[in-house]
Amino acid sequence: MSFSAFSRGAFMLCAAVFCLQATAQIDQSYARDPKEAIDQDYTERIAKYTTMPELNSPLTNYLPASSTVPTPEKVLGDVSGAPDILPYAEDVYRYFRLLESATPRVKVFTIGHTEEGREMIAVAVADESLLAHYKENDARLAKLADPRTINMNDATAADLVKQSVPVYYITGTIHSPETGAPTALMELAYRLAVDDSPYIQYIRSHMITLITPVVEVDGRDRMVDIYKWHKAHPNENYPRLVYWGHYVAHDNNRDAMTLTLDLSRNVLDTYIGWHAQVLHDLHESVPFLYDNTVGDEPYNAWLDPILTNEWQMIGWNNVQEMTKFGMPGVFTHGDFDTWSPGYLMFMAAMHNGISRLYETFGNGGADTVERILTPDEYSRTWYRQNPPYPKVKWSQRDNNNYEETALLVSLSYFAQNAQTFLNNFYLKSKRSILKPNDSGPAAYVLPADEESQDRQRMLLDILRAQHVEISRTTEPVTISVPAKSKGEKKDDASDKDAKKPEPKTESRTIPTGSYVIRMDQPYSRIADALLDRQYWAPDDPQKTPYDDTGWSLPALFSVEALRITEPAILKAKMDTVKEDLSPAGPSGSGSVYLVANHADPRIVTLRYTLKNATISVTDAAVTVSGQQFPVGSIMIRNASADEVKSTLEKTNLTAIAVSAAPSVAAHPVSAPRIAMMHTWLSTQTEGWWRQAFDKLSVPFDYINTQTVSSEDDLRSKYDVIIFAPVGDDVRTPQIVAGLPMWGNALPWKKTDLTPNLGRIDSTDDMRPGLGYSGIDHLRHFVEQGGLLITSQDTAQFAIDTGLAPGVSVAPHGNLKVVGTLLATSVVDPKSPVLYGYSKPLTVYSEDGLSMNVSNIVGGTRAPRLGGNEERTTGRGGPDDPDTPQGRPYVAADPLPKPKPWEPMPLNEEQTRNNPNVIPTELRPQVLLRYADKDSLLVSGLLDHGDLLAQHAAVIAAHLGKGTVLLFANNPVYRGETIGSYPLVFNAILNFDHLGRISGGGPGASTAQ
Ligand SMILES: [Zn+2]
Repeated sequence: MSFSAFSRGAFMLCAAVFCLQATAQIDQSYARDPKEAIDQDYTERIAKYTTMPELNSPLTNYLPASSTVPTPEKVLGDVSGAPDILPYAEDVYRYFRLLESATPRVKVFTIGHTEEGREMIAVAVADESLLAHYKENDARLAKLADPRTINMNDATAADLVKQSVPVYYITGTIHSPETGAPTALMELAYRLAVDDSPYIQYIRSHMITLITPVVEVDGRDRMVDIYKWHKAHPNENYPRLVYWGHYVAHDNNRDAMTLTLDLSRNVLDTYIGWHAQVLHDLHESVPFLYDNTVGDEPYNAWLDPILTNEWQMIGWNNVQEMTKFGMPGVFTHGDFDTWSPGYLMFMAAMHNGISRLYETFGNGGADTVERILTPDEYSRTWYRQNPPYPKVKWSQRDNNNYEETALLVSLSYFAQNAQTFLNNFYLKSKRSILKPNDSGPAAYVLPADEESQDRQRMLLDILRAQHVEISRTTEPVTISVPAKSKGEKKDDASDKDAKKPEPKTESRTIPTGSYVIRMDQPYSRIADALLDRQYWAPDDPQKTPYDDTGWSLPALFSVEALRITEPAILKAKMDTVKEDLSPAGPSGSGSVYLVANHADPRIVTLRYTLKNATISVTDAAVTVSGQQFPVGSIMIRNASADEVKSTLEKTNLTAIAVSAAPSVAAHPVSAPRIAMMHTWLSTQTEGWWRQAFDKLSVPFDYINTQTVSSEDDLRSKYDVIIFAPVGDDVRTPQIVAGLPMWGNALPWKKTDLTPNLGRIDSTDDMRPGLGYSGIDHLRHFVEQGGLLITSQDTAQFAIDTGLAPGVSVAPHGNLKVVGTLLATSVVDPKSPVLYGYSKPLTVYSEDGLSMNVSNIVGGTRAPRLGGNEERTTGRGGPDDPDTPQGRPYVAADPLPKPKPWEPMPLNEEQTRNNPNVIPTELRPQVLLRYADKDSLLVSGLLDHGDLLAQHAAVIAAHLGKGTVLLFANNPVYRGETIGSYPLVFNAILNFDHLGRISGGGPGASTAQ
């Protein structure tokens, strides 16, 4: 009899242990070995901490006993999932190492460390005979992973498959408030190593289970601190986990494309290094177990259909088996779209494996509490026929039951079908190599004559980290490439221009030394997905994209990557790049060094590394020794040759040395003193900025809104204050007010109880915000010549608080932008912010923010000053003037028709005695605008783009002697927006040259 035959009331009446035994009879395949001893005490506590019997299964409702192998109790002091117990990562590791010393079925490996130096581990569990020979097994898997090594021979592959067992890699707790996985995985490893039931034995002897119990180790330790604080202050609100990892929170699961975080690289290297077939990531946010692998459309367009079918196989087996156990709320599909490859699990999808993900239910700690679900969580739908209960008392043990049961079901299915999945693994690897001749393309080419070697190198470094092979041509190659567009099509272009069709392809000779990303390699799929463009149809049935809709890295890096469809490119002479390429040292001789500015991110590194050198920036283009140096190029003096050489190596920049500075106007650039200001509301979006600055060795003071609230003299300390986006839908009133002041203080600091908090920044109370004093202090800072940099919601903040006179937010209407890449056009080429940019820049927009400018404070573009031009009822046709009778006709001056990025010009009538008119030198300057409608979309979803087209994207607003820079886009995002980083760094280096009038303050000679 299955549990589903009982009513819920009946469960309440039956003793838990009896019910569990009844369940065990439903299917003999789950039966435990009757001869095997049970750890009675542990088993009773499993039942005790499980809040309802149906929230457990015959696979996990007992624990086998062992006289030699310690149970998790040895470290936890109670069973896995017991209330009130949340172990630190080191305790979790201690248990796995105890297992390793007690049984030959467990091996522990260090796989790397985190940004804060904490260890990451992977634990292999399998039969001792498999683990003793895991290296031989891995050598066979390596051949299946790269079928070129066996000449793509299917018969050889079949032999290898027969001799091999697969590797199933499980990762836990990447998301720190999702706390259940470590204890579930401790107990799972014990079961896999100890249990002699046929079900478990089969798994153990047919596959290797690989486990990283804690992915976000820094965040785990902070989360345990918070939980301990909560237990010590039981009746108080407890602080939110405002920092997870060192840089980002939830977005640590969006880093699988650019691999900027240590945890991403450590997991990918482990997955690739073991030649695993599955990467299965554990999360907790959906009741009771959502196997989100199958997900919803649109599916990522670069996946092998074999994989998407594997998702269905494994996912539906998972749901079916747990349905048979009578466990409520287990489902697959759901509303997760499978478009973006940024998720950790997607590393497997993009490297010929299988990506999987569970969302289980969790309480953000180990308290047992009553949870009230929302209708969309408990409703029955076609893919969720046995939905979760509307209300449930939920424990961490319940969570562990679900996670372990689901994993065992998956492992069992995988073991039972190991040969099929290994063969699929080989097939997917082979089909990745065959890509040039089926779906294409044949290759991507990154030409050697790329303007910014720095940005190109950064893109190549990501591909290399993705284990993509890179080749380099050894002779010039002439190929057919997509024709270059003749530039932005003007909306008002004449019909004559429009009729000339542009050719689709053109012949191009690619110079020696160009980089070729061949698609006839095993990991072609990730390279293709990253280098291609994305298109999300505005009328796609999926109306709520789960994450960004576009990510094309060449566009975001502003690097040319030619998509070559002709397989002939693969026959060109080229070598595989084995070593890192170091740039040539400075050429020429002399004590003055010139570095061309091609909007290279690491120019800023150069300034801060050569601390004592005299550095200036050219105010005009200049040619020296036949080499072009665009406006904004760098001149270095008073630095030793050795210093310059080592700095160039570090920055991947090239320089020429000359004996005297060329005769060109220049201005000095100091190493401006930077502060980065964060709120206590959310730190993730600004965390990406911190990470970028750290990676580029740009020093900054990390301050918070409370510091600024109490510190008036910011200008004596700082030249630049960065207020990076807050995110999380935080708006100006919250930035100013902070969290409500009722209730108790919420400390974030290092104490004996919370040793892992306060490391990045600290406060006695997270609640107070910036306050009105903070706004005043920022205003004084700018008025005294400082530069305030804002973006997205903080640009809105600057507008809302009067720090950006003449700037307003453009109406959004029904515009739809969801993490979309958009083209821009330069409005003010003389602004130092745009130094080095020679071609149109693509920017990342989260939701389509754009801005308008006005020459009047508080003024907006609509209604237009002066009303509309529509003719009134009268004589003639629609285009004729109305003429009053009895007097001569007097024509009006035509009304001005500014472009969407321009302010409405003011006439004498409008400026007379008007205190709101902004003095000419303080009027906001639009530096960059969104492109015209037809060329606006680069990658992703854009609907009703006409509402955004041509509107201002980057504005310099002026206040007193200083500048407020407003980005409607986010120029520093997830390590992806490398092309727009230099906008920020140019602004920083030239912070005192961003005004309208020459001579500092509002200073440079930019166009009116
Ligand atoms: Zn999660």
